[in-house]
Amino acid sequence: MPLPVIECKTQVAAVRRLTAEILEVDLAMREPAEFTFEAGQWVSVPLGPKTVRAYTITSTPASRSQITLCADVTPGGTGSRWFRALAPGQVVEFKGPTGGFVFNRADPRRPLFVAEEIGIVPIRSILWDLYQTGFGRPATLIYWGRDPSWLAYDGEFRLLARRYPPFEYLPVVREAVGGWQGEKGEAPDLVERTVGSVAGLIAYVSGGGQMINKVRQVLMAKGMERKAVKWEKFW
Ligand SMILES: Cc1cc2nc3c(=O)[nH]c(=O)nc-3n(C[C@H](O)[C@H](O)[C@H](O)COP(=O)(O)OP(=O)(O)OC[C@H]3O[C@@H](n4cnc5c(N)ncnc54)[C@H](O)[C@@H]3O)c2cc1C
Repeated sequence: MPLPVIECKTQVAAVRRLTAEILEVDLAMREPAEFTFEAGQWVSVPLGPKTVRAYTITSTPASRSQITLCADVTPGGTGSRWFRALAPGQVVEFKGPTGGFVFNRADPRRPLFVAEEIGIVPIRSILWDLYQTGFGRPATLIYWGRDPSWLAYDGEFRLLARRYPPFEYLPVVREAVGGWQGEKGEAPDLVERTVGSVAGLIAYVSGGGQMINKVRQVLMAKGMERKAVKWEKFW
């Protein structure tokens, strides 16, 4: 049963800059006092009579009295300007939770997560939720950025992989600047190179539509069923 979509009132508790253009904001729940959602879901923020923007919850469902959103503010439109101007104490209203890009624990298939830049947000929530609540099974994350500075949660995923060895983390960048030692290229190339058998695999792909289509093509060429590729298109 999907959780009901409700109207919520919150207050900005803190704003953090993760990279030059990626911001996180903590929203303390006011009405209702607690918010229930599934990892991977998003909220819609009304920004004008006909203007709404979707932002995915980057925190995990364990935190109900405060949620965290994370945005790339480079697109520069209404949503980016709003996010950039958020300040502690400000009231933020939204509707949610919404979205079906969630992990089904009853599914025995091995998950492959693929994220393009800010598309990491739902996957970050899903992965921390899974491992903090005793998932224990193998999972792989392929996380692409144009250069290392666009891998906002890179340090965290390295930590997650050390703490929970069944989790495999494969970051990849187009431009290997700043002494980058890891993989270089595009996300679909790394999927092509690292995914052997697709038997018993389910993919969760999040980011821009072009990358999602290419990753789906690569996986389907390896024999994966179309519906075994779940996706969340941010742009
Ligand atoms: C289900 C869903 C969840 C989302 N969750 C998040 C989230 O957690 N964090 C987040 O930052 N954004 C998220 N987005 C995107 C967000 O809703 C806005 O589209 C984004 O903030 C840009 O809004 P804007 O008003 O600044 O620019 P707009 O004027 O709306 O967009 C300008 C152009 O930029 C494109 N665009 C939007 N985002 C990007 C991007 N990151 N990279 C390249 N092009 C882009 C748009 O498609 C459009 O063509 C989500 C979108 C959807 C549909």
